[in-house]
Amino acid sequence: MNDPVKSRDWRCCEGGERIYVADCGHTQGVEFTLHRCSVCSRHWMSLWSVASSSVSYSSVDEPVLSQLLNMPEGRAARRLLEKLYDL
Ligand SMILES: [Zn+2]
Repeated sequence: MNDPVKSRDWRCCEGGERIYVADCGHTQGVEFTLHRCSVCSRHWMSLWSVASSSVSYSSVDEPVLSQLLNMPEGRAARRLLEKLYDL
């Protein structure tokens, strides 16, 4: 089972900017937005919880990234997010 580490802060590089990559949709009251670091190009998923109005970040590794960039449609996309982020 994938066990993503979610943290309050996305930053991996001193002075790095967070660059928007893609909107990955929403499920279970969480909005998923993919970003990358301007310095090292590491990808980060932001998980915005509508209920608690709080955001956390999870580092995205290469195999997961390719799945996210080739998102299926509709319900399949939501199932993928739920599987990846243990919702
Ligand atoms: Zn970085």
